[in-house]
Amino acid sequence: MPFSISISQLSEVLVATPKGLAKSANNYLITGVSTDTRSIRCGDLFVALQGSNFDGHEFVQTAVAKGAVAVVTGKDLGSQVGEEIPQFVVKDTLQAYQAIAQWWRNQLTIPVIGVTGSFGKTTTKELIGAVLATQGKVLKTQANYNNEIGVPKTLLELNLEHDFAVIEMAMRGRGEIALLSKIVQPNIGVITNVGTAHIGRLGSVEAIAQAKCELLVEMPKDSVAILNADNHLLMATAERLWQGKTVTYGLENGDLQGQLVDGQTMMVEGIKLPLPLPGRHNAQNYLAALAVAKVLGIDLTQFSQGLTVQLPEGRAKRYDLPNDLVILDETYNAGLESMVAALHLLAQTPGKRHIAVLGTMKELGVRSAQLHFQVGETVKQLNLDRLLILVDDPETQEIANGAAGIPCECFTNHQAILDRLKKLVQPGDRILFKASHSVALDKVVNQFRELV
Ligand code: ATP
Ligand code: MG
Repeated sequence: MPFSISISQLSEVLVATPKGLAKSANNYLITGVSTDTRSIRCGDLFVALQGSNFDGHEFVQTAVAKGAVAVVTGKDLGSQVGEEIPQFVVKDTLQAYQAIAQWWRNQLTIPVIGVTGSFGKTTTKELIGAVLATQGKVLKTQANYNNEIGVPKTLLELNLEHDFAVIEMAMRGRGEIALLSKIVQPNIGVITNVGTAHIGRLGSVEAIAQAKCELLVEMPKDSVAILNADNHLLMATAERLWQGKTVTYGLENGDLQGQLVDGQTMMVEGIKLPLPLPGRHNAQNYLAALAVAKVLGIDLTQFSQGLTVQLPEGRAKRYDLPNDLVILDETYNAGLESMVAALHLLAQTPGKRHIAVLGTMKELGVRSAQLHFQVGETVKQLNLDRLLILVDDPETQEIANGAAGIPCECFTNHQAILDRLKKLVQPGDRILFKASHSVALDKVVNQFRELV
């Protein structure tokens, strides 16, 4: 059964009485919820959201013409909405949308897993999805539907055929994870780690830890927390804020501990498991997924034959090019901890020379210069063969300072870096590309792949 709600149920959820409702229609069913007239379906409720670049109220008539059977608006649109179409006028249409999603989530009794953390949310969500797909039908957040609009959108796609839901929950500031957690009501709440990503916004790692742990504070008290025991700040903060059931995981600590055998396998509770994704950080993410499996009573031996996981672009993506060239495309995003993780992955990739092509990590506020310097220090510590930097912020230069002693060149545009790479590469090279998304290093990756 897909989504359905009657007009009278909706009146209760929104604590609002619709205008323009024909009495006979009081109990007809709405069979979906849409905020976008490009994808609206007949029988849907249209919720007019207001963003910085758009106003859903301008599309109400189109929505009705395309089959919307009721609308939620922030102002009374009067006769613009057809006479027979119930119009719920509410103070905040986004809150209304979230309330409907929360109501629908509560109609279903399937396990819902919420995932947050500074790094590895999407990766862990995909790994949990892959683990659970061996048992039944899984609904996962798609693309970047991990915020105050995307999360309710995902929940509204739940139907009775689903056996599990895995919801990524992202934040920009305090209070946002709390809001999402209230809507999602996770039965299992996973926090992958706490780090310096976007520290410019929250000011300190302690504040970030507190904000991530809002997931636990707002989830039902009988839910299970799954926490990365290798992350001490996360553990200390969670201990203060969560007294409920907890399962921890890690490569150094935790109830569920993994021992890396080599780059390809990990021992967990005496079972040899192939790693679905490369790198130590992804082994940790996999442990989070295995912890979810354990909580749900799934036998881990099922995964001894391996698990296939397809990540979205720009994360741990390996391209094997002609002439024994390998590219590691990590251009989706970057923060200190993810840079360090990716640089280790590069260093551990067998090959002749190891080259890092790095760019700015954004939103680091006053810590920016120091964190860029630390990235450089990691390059030095790993003794990489060469460093190319796309400098578009003064602080980015600090990577070069931190890496003093490693052959390093700085560039100010994508073309210059591409031209240099063309001349530089040799068979056997392993090249990592990583920067924040807005730096658009993926353009260089794509052009470089076409060239060689
Ligand atoms: P966003 O906040 O942008 O949604 P995310 O938390 O969903 O990011 P992913 O997209 O899974 O994170 O991964 C982004 C990058 O973070 C990866 O490319 C990788 O470099 C790094 N990463 C993934 N998992 C971890 C981890 N457990 N620890 C450190 N870095 C990680
Ligand atoms: Mg993500």
